[in-house]
Amino acid sequence: MSSTLLAILLGAAALVLFIGWELIDHRRHRRARAVAADVAELGDDLLPTSIHPLIDAHACIGSGACVRACPEDDVIAIVHGRAELINPLACIGHGRCMTACPVQAITLVFGTAARGLELPAVSTDFETTRAGVYVVGELGGMGLIRNATEQGRQAAAAIARSSRRGAGDTLDAVVVGGGPAGIATTLGLMAAGKRALLVEQGELGGAIRHYPRAKVVMTGNLELPGYGTVRKKTLAKEELEALFRDIQHRTQLPLETGLRVDSVVADGDGWIVRAGSWECRAANVVLALGRRGAPRTLGVPGEDLAKVSYRVLEPEPFAGKHVLVVGGGNAAADCVIALAAAGCKSLGLSYRRGELARLRGSVRAAVDREVADGRITLHLRSEVEAIDEDVVVLRTPEGRIELPNDQVVIQVGGTAPDELLRGIGIELIEKRGEA
Ligand SMILES: Cc1cc2nc3c(=O)[nH]c(=O)nc-3n(C[C@H](O)[C@H](O)[C@H](O)COP(=O)(O)OP(=O)(O)OC[C@H]3O[C@@H](n4cnc5c(N)ncnc54)[C@H](O)[C@@H]3O)c2cc1C
Repeated sequence: MSSTLLAILLGAAALVLFIGWELIDHRRHRRARAVAADVAELGDDLLPTSIHPLIDAHACIGSGACVRACPEDDVIAIVHGRAELINPLACIGHGRCMTACPVQAITLVFGTAARGLELPAVSTDFETTRAGVYVVGELGGMGLIRNATEQGRQAAAAIARSSRRGAGDTLDAVVVGGGPAGIATTLGLMAAGKRALLVEQGELGGAIRHYPRAKVVMTGNLELPGYGTVRKKTLAKEELEALFRDIQHRTQLPLETGLRVDSVVADGDGWIVRAGSWECRAANVVLALGRRGAPRTLGVPGEDLAKVSYRVLEPEPFAGKHVLVVGGGNAAADCVIALAAAGCKSLGLSYRRGELARLRGSVRAAVDREVADGRITLHLRSEVEAIDEDVVVLRTPEGRIELPNDQVVIQVGGTAPDELLRGIGIELIEKRGEA
């Protein structure tokens, strides 16, 4: 091949790459500007109350170091020469943007100016204002698997040092919540020879179980007492789940699943932990509940059928099915938009009010587009009356209607874990956009 032809081919390849990159970049910028407009429109309604970056627009020089440092996709972007959060709700608080910023224009904060976040007041050992009750992991405000694991380990060591002991039927500790914090706490207690029980409302694994398939998880070294140190910087979601299964199997983790703890009450020197009619006495209680809380239910007949779920991990399994999403907030709308792309046989959105008034501008526009194209049917002013194997019954002002149905997704909010903390009498401190 002549050198001229080679030069032409290389030039053409470079041009194709350049145009491709420009197109991707243009699309990214268009999306970033749309979301930035939403943030401006809805103000701090779009910001998470969990830990997230606060960007000082005056100090920012638009270096892009924060964008490159963020391990998650499209959380932060340079818009009009300044860093902006373009998908604030996807921020999980890695904090790498803050360390990468060359001009210290980023701080990590809890809560927002309008919506405070109440965090439990804890000692350096993670003990709350109620003696013998500890809070570890994301519930205490500090997210990430490594932080949660480390806090669990330290709380277990503090309990092992303390004079509060179980005797007879009273355990040394009940740990509530089977995520990374609860697992590490229980391992720490077992390694110290304590009698402990881990109680989980669902299955072992915590928030990790709800990550998208094959998500790359940034962990860092995890020190797990009695099991060993896991020296991996990144793991796939499935590898992490396998790790938890291996821990459970090899350490004989004392675990009770399917128990949603609804109260913790003082009992002499110790505590009674209750989940419905189940109860257990312990000298110490470690709350490792995370911040997701429990999804709110509709309380209608048929809600316990296997086809009913409260979140969508992957839209693909819904393809070719009759699906109804229930709810009128941004979470329900995001869910119905994702399902519309999957190609359902029919897809409805049932909401009890007459207007989808709580949606962000860009989400509202996307829902309107899908409705106009016939991929989503809106059932406004409707309430689910009953769910059957093949149909859903809606109550509407015009009377009852029956929709063919294979899957129902309920997205009507959830109950915050703070209620349990308040019931125990733990002091909470409100943060409004503060570190
Ligand atoms: C999509 C996504 C991606 C993420 N990616 C990463 C990442 O790459 N790297 C990283 O370090 N972190 C990541 N995180 C954050 C990380 O998952 C959390 O910080 C971590 O799981 C917190 O651990 P935890 O044990 O405190 O709480 P959780 O993992 O939330 O576990 C709490 C457990 O408590 C249970 N529970 C709650 N209430 C009760 C009750 N009343 N009774 C009984 N059980 C109860 C819950 O069912 C749950 O299993 C991500 C989070 C999300 C949502």
